[in-house]
This record gives sequence, structure tokens and C-alpha cells, in this order.
Amino acid sequence: MANSIDHIASIAEIVGADNLVSDDEAKQVYGLDWTRFYSPAPLCVVFPKSIEVVQALVLFASKNALSLVPSGGRTGLSGGAVACNGEVVVSFEKMNQVLEFDPIDQVVTVQPGLVTEALQQFAEDQGLFYPVDFASAGSSQIGGNLATNAGGIKVLKYGLTRDWVVGLKVVTGAGELLDLNRSLIKNATGYDLRHLFVGSEGTLGFIVEASMKLAQKPNNLTVALLAVPDMANIISVMTQFREHVELTAFEFFSDKALEHVLAHSELSRPFADPSAFYALIEFDQRNAAVMDAALAAFESCVESGIAVDGVISQSEQQRKDIWRYREGISEAITPHTPYKNDVSVRVSKVPAFLKAVDATVTSAYPEFEIVWFGHIGDGNLHLNILKPTDWPLDRFKRECEAVSEQVMKLVQKFAGSVSAEHGVGLLKRDQLKYSRSAEEIEIMKAMKRVFDPAGIMNPGKLLV
Ligand SMILES: Cc1cc2nc3c(=O)[nH]c(=O)nc-3n(C[C@H](O)[C@H](O)[C@H](O)COP(=O)(O)OP(=O)(O)OC[C@H]3O[C@@H](n4cnc5c(N)ncnc54)[C@H](O)[C@@H]3O)c2cc1C
Repeated sequence: MANSIDHIASIAEIVGADNLVSDDEAKQVYGLDWTRFYSPAPLCVVFPKSIEVVQALVLFASKNALSLVPSGGRTGLSGGAVACNGEVVVSFEKMNQVLEFDPIDQVVTVQPGLVTEALQQFAEDQGLFYPVDFASAGSSQIGGNLATNAGGIKVLKYGLTRDWVVGLKVVTGAGELLDLNRSLIKNATGYDLRHLFVGSEGTLGFIVEASMKLAQKPNNLTVALLAVPDMANIISVMTQFREHVELTAFEFFSDKALEHVLAHSELSRPFADPSAFYALIEFDQRNAAVMDAALAAFESCVESGIAVDGVISQSEQQRKDIWRYREGISEAITPHTPYKNDVSVRVSKVPAFLKAVDATVTSAYPEFEIVWFGHIGDGNLHLNILKPTDWPLDRFKRECEAVSEQVMKLVQKFAGSVSAEHGVGLLKRDQLKYSRSAEEIEIMKAMKRVFDPAGIMNPGKLLV
């Protein structure tokens, strides 16, 4: 039977010696995503440069019972790209090119390793817009975005990554190359396998090429930031604004979240007095009438007392600066090893859900610092529990899992999702049962067996 050294030598022949690393440092870096709860231990890391090489790798892995972990920008927050058990990490760093752009279709075909921000920039260079955006866009890759169905800050108007993919090439766990949907707008020919791969977290196969449609550029994005003392009123702020203007984003964060951003940056407080919560509202100010309507909404929020202070951006620089209060949160709390819950409920249920979760978490664990923020306009809340400095990591994780269990029971009660946009990976795998039925999970397992009969694709992630 071949040993690990033989396997590494054979894999080097497939990918080319320059495209394989197996030193400890590389294994630490490429065996981990943004989560900090796992100890990486892959066999090696490879950087294929073509679809053919990916196919050859899959066939070799299948014959030799080796597990493969697809790896993008490793900004994932659920351990989807983590490799702890002698797997081969397949990084798409060297397949990162724009392949083709069709201005009539307004579709761009890219390799999976293209960084999200590079796609946004490419769109801008064409006078168009790629609307999926979030704080990790400078590192995450299109393949990873598709595999997690990434959302972000503009879902309210533009939807998720799923809504922008018009074609996918994938290599399944059986080594077949599938060319799915071929950028067609209309295609009523049975099951749309493209959408099975969106959100599949590398468990069915590799995304090796993606065709993404681009949008028209927004005209004049403008942002309002409102101080909202009572969490229960956040959704009322949204409905007041939504009556007057079409929103592109509606986010919220707590004062605790803001404090971390202020401590981590040179930004100063947005208002003289702190408020328990803040709502960030973005809209496309196509003409002066839109601004008048936004001002009317703003005044009505202040007059009714649901907001106590506010500001509306007067320039592109000010818009960007206001966004930094929200976009800086993840990075600012990272040194505190946050345990993240990324849950969603229907928007109408947000106020009651927020109240129930807040009560549960603060009464059960008063010693934890809780940081709330999220894409609340999509019903998506990020509940971050920060590690007390003197607690060891394993105790913290254990305690958080117990808190999470209670939160997930509330998610189930409110008919929500245990992972709104971060995926399931390892971190949320055992909680899947709170938002997918036993029957659904069995069907998902059966689908995995069809695409990945040898069970080599990212085993242990998403499904047990
Ligand atoms: C600061 C910060 C802010 C964030 N904000 C948001 C946000 O607002 N919204 C949001 O949705 N997410 C957010 N995330 C999470 C993360 O950025 C997204 O999940 C992103 O889509 C992951 O992309 P990636 O390339 O880094 O994937 P990775 O972390 O490398 O991998 C994620 C999953 O995709 C699989 N995968 C990667 N590439 C491929 C491929 N080519 N084929 C098949 N499977 C593949 C991996 O195996 C893994 O299961 C944030 C993360 C950070 C650190």
C-alpha cells in the first residue's frame, strides 16, 4: 500500500512539483480558514493551473481514498475550508483569471480563484457593477463565494451570489466535467444542477469556472446612519425608509460593536451621545426627489422618537467613511476570538426573535461580551460572543456551543436558519437539524453520493 510520501510524489507528478507544498508553515496557512477553533493537519497543498489537472487529481484521489478540500480565499467563518485529517488542500490561487467578457450578454467568465474585489473592479472598468460585496471581498474568491452562496451588504436590493451566476463548470467528485446552464437566461430543461453547486461547500465537487452576470451601475449611492436606542425599533426604521425610497442596504450594529471599531481605527464617534444601536441605510439617490423622500423618512423617524440622532452622507468619501463603522466590525473583534452565530429569520419576526435571543444569552451567560450586528434588512443577525481574555480556547468553545444550542432552538422555534450566509462547514454541522428536516438531510446525503460516490469531497463538512 502506498504511504504518504508516495502519495505526495504521485500528486506532484499530476500538478507539477512547483504547484505542491507540504511544509508545516504552508499546511498551517492553507489548512485553516478564518475560524480559529481547529488544528490544521493536511497531507499537502496543491495549486492546480487547469481544469484537466483538477480532473486528474480527483481521479487519483478517488483511486487512493484521499480526501480533497477545495480552498478559496480562506475567509470562511464555518470551517468549510479547514483540513485537519491528512487531506489534500486544493487551492485555486493559480486559477485566478478573467477568461472572457461579453458586453451584449454583460456576462463575465472567470476562473474560481479570482478575488471578489477583482471582479468588482473588472465590472467597474466596463462601466458596470458586480453587486455582491462584504468586508472580506479583498481576499475571498468567486469559487468560495459560490460554494457558500455568499451574501453581504447589498442583498436587500441585489440578492445573493446565487442570483448572479449564469453558468458553472464543475468537476464532480467522480471526476466528470459538467458545463452547467452555459450562461442562458432561459433554460427549462429539468433540474438546474448549477444551483446544487451553489452553497454546496465543496462537498459535491470543484467549481472550476464561473460565468457571472453584471448589473447596471448605481447612480449615486447615499448612506444614512441613525442612532436607535431601542433594538425593537430597528425594523420600524426600515419600514419608514422603505415607504419613501428603494433601499440597497439596511444594516444594524450595537454600540458595543462600534466601540470595538473605534478602538481598532482612527474613526471618531458618529454622534455626540452613544446610542444602544445604530441603523445604516443605503439608497441610490438617482435624483433630488429621492433625497427629499429620504429626508422625509429621516424626519419621521426622529419625530416619532424611534431615532434620536442621524446623519446623511453628502459625498462619496463620507458614504465610505460611514460604511467603515459597519464594515470594520468583523476585523475589530477578531482579536477577541469571537464565536459567531450567523442566523436568519423572516424580517417580520426579527424584533421578537432579537428580544428572545438577547434575553436567553445575557441571562444564561452574563460574563460573556455579546456583540450584535448584521444585515437586518434580510432578517440576518450576527451574534458574536467574545472570549474572556483569561479563558482557555477549549472551555470557551464548549460554553459557546452550549449557548448556541439554546439560540438554535430559538431559531427552530422562529422557523429560521442556523446559517444565513456563512455556510455550515464544521462549525454549524451539528446544528443543521434545527433548520433542515431529517428527510431533507437524507436527500442531501443521497445527492452527495451521486456526485461524490467515493466520499472524497470535503468529507465531514456540512453533512456527517
Ligand atoms: C471580515 C469578514 C467579513 C465577512 N462578511 C461576510 C458577509 O457579509 N457575507 C457573507 O456571505 N460572508 C461573509 N464572510 C464570510 C466569507 O468571506 C464568505 O463565506 C466567502 O464567500 C468565502 O469565500 P472564500 O473564497 O474565502 O472561501 P473559503 O473560506 O476558502 O471556502 C469556503 C467554502 O467553499 C469551498 N470552496 C472554496 N473554493 C471552492 C471551489 N472552487 N469549488 C468548490 N468549493 C470551493 C471550501 O471548501 C469551503 O467549504 C466574511 C468573512 C470575513 C473574514
